[in-house]
Amino acid sequence: MMKAEKHPASNPSEAPMLGDHLAMDLLNTEAMVDGKTVDYWGSGEDVLGWMARHGIAPADADGPLDLEALLARGRTLRTLVRQLVEQRKQGSVGDTAPIAALDAYLRAHVSAPHLARDSEGGLTLTRQARAEPVASMLGRLAEATAQLLVDGDFDLVKQCQHPECVLWFYDRTKAHKRRWCSMALCGNRHKAAQFRKKAAL
Ligand SMILES: [Zn+2]
Repeated sequence: MMKAEKHPASNPSEAPMLGDHLAMDLLNTEAMVDGKTVDYWGSGEDVLGWMARHGIAPADADGPLDLEALLARGRTLRTLVRQLVEQRKQGSVGDTAPIAALDAYLRAHVSAPHLARDSEGGLTLTRQARAEPVASMLGRLAEATAQLLVDGDFDLVKQCQHPECVLWFYDRTKAHKRRWCSMALCGNRHKAAQFRKKAAL
């Protein structure tokens, strides 16, 4: 029965959305499935689809979207975020170079407040992207990461404890005892392995 359960990272087309934080889900676009590394960002379209599932879309007004740049710069950003999150998890604030590199993504993420009448006759104030679409979209990920590095509780930034799983999550449970990317999957894999160990004694 347990064998029929699929690891959350085993869907070949879509990265798991279980990180409970945008930066964690960004890291989880690379996963281990059956001992092999899987990159869910295989193309610019993959990145675009992933962004859409996280509510991030390019604004039409910003001109055409360069999918190749979205993939290349997105992957570079992901590497940076991994480096900074891992360094922070090990107790360091982070090296100067990756911090400056992340900051470059933030500086490219230009937006302005936008005041307009809404359909009900009132006024709305929103923020409108002012940069080219790739910078705007990746800027959202960079900002979520920067916020995490500054304000996040890194005791709650965790990696799944299953030895064959590399997924990250932000532990928002009340007791802060979350150990698995998914209790139903990695949690059960662990329980089954413990059971086998006991049975073998
Ligand atoms: Zn796991």
